Amino acid sequence: MQKKEVKKSEDEWKKVLTSEEFSVLRKKGTEPPFSGKYVHQTMEGTYVCAGCGNKLFSSETKFDSGSGWPSFFTPVSNDAVLLKPDTSLGMKRTEVVCARCGGHLGHVFDDGPKPTGQRYCMNSVSLHFQEKKE
Ligand code: FE
Repeated sequence: MQKKEVKKSEDEWKKVLTSEEFSVLRKKGTEPPFSGKYVHQTMEGTYVCAGCGNKLFSSETKFDSGSGWPSFFTPVSNDAVLLKPDTSLGMKRTEVVCARCGGHLGHVFDDGPKPTGQRYCMNSVSLHFQEKKE
C-alpha cells in the first residue's frame, strides 16, 4: 500500500513539533549522546516517526551499540525510510530520513550486528514509542 506523503511548510512543522524535534527532524540536528529517552529502552513495541507517525523500527531489531543513540539493525520495511548520501561535517555518511515526511532520523553505518551488519543510529527525539499491546 502506498503511504500518503506528508508535506508541511517550516511554519507548519514548528506548530506541531517541539523545538528539539524541529531542530533534529527538520534541521538535521543531532541530540547529545546518552541524552535520548530511548537509548536504553528495552520494552517491546514499535518506534514511529515523531513527525508523522510512520512506522520505522521494531524493538525486536534494537540493540545496544554503546554509541549513546538508539540503534537498530534494520527498519520495519524497505520503504519506511530513505537513505541519502551526506558529506556534511567533512564526513562521508548515509543519512536516514522518514520516507513519509522527509524528517531527519539519523545515519546508517555498516558496522552493525548480524543478520544485516547495519547500524541504524537514530535520534530518540525523532522517534515516538508505541508499546506492544497484549
Ligand atoms: Fe515521518
